[in-house]
Amino acid sequence: MIKAIFFDLDDTLLWDQKSVKEAFAATCRLAEMRYGLSADQLEEAVRDAARNLYSSYETFAFTQMIGINPFEGLWGDFLDDTEEFKKMKEIVPNYRKDAWTSGLAAMGIDDLEFGMELAERFPQERRNHPFVYDETFKILDGLKGNYQLLLLTNGSPDLQNTKLSITPELVPYFDHIVISGDFGRGKPDPSIFEHALSRMSLKKDEVIMVGDNLMTDILGANRAGIKTVWINRHDKQRNEVIPTFEIKHLEDLYPILEKLNRN
Ligand SMILES: [Mg+2]
Repeated sequence: MIKAIFFDLDDTLLWDQKSVKEAFAATCRLAEMRYGLSADQLEEAVRDAARNLYSSYETFAFTQMIGINPFEGLWGDFLDDTEEFKKMKEIVPNYRKDAWTSGLAAMGIDDLEFGMELAERFPQERRNHPFVYDETFKILDGLKGNYQLLLLTNGSPDLQNTKLSITPELVPYFDHIVISGDFGRGKPDPSIFEHALSRMSLKKDEVIMVGDNLMTDILGANRAGIKTVWINRHDKQRNEVIPTFEIKHLEDLYPILEKLNRN
């Protein structure tokens, strides 16, 4: 009997990838207007520079363990209380500036001041472009009251709470919110799933995990012995991680829940 549903946040309920894409487009458009370069090419150059820089910092292993990607580093403030987050807070101003000036440099533009301007613009644009999937509130309305709902998200508590404050309609649906940066380990570590279970006083066969990421949501829940639903909206290839169920739309959850609860 399934009593609770664990939902991932980014790219399961919130359309983070689109928000980031739109923020890049708006920011890179400024460079297109100023220098006549291709906004798309600048975006690629900045993404590359960001990935390289991000992996060079001493905080990289921590960001991987908690689950914070390079593009979150381009707009998060990381006003969290632990030592590692304090290091990130110190690193990110230079990280942003360097990512954007390196991206410009890759396009043949040497303009430190403009790079700094774009670095400051991107976080504003990310905040201005929150996207939620059309089906998100429909499915949550349908489940609320019939199931307990828990949000299980990887990331900095400060940044994940910022995302939730930009889309305030989401929070009231959830009985519990678990953020990896608060707990200390991120998905796919099974301990965060066990922590989530204990918050609800439920057993592993009474919950199901819904998420878009095979290597975190599905792998972690598998390790914890929790049934999984992989939301695969963009026909991604499966790897060696095998979800219990695979769906294309969140509404496809209803027949799965019905089937599980009939037995
Ligand atoms: Mg996700």
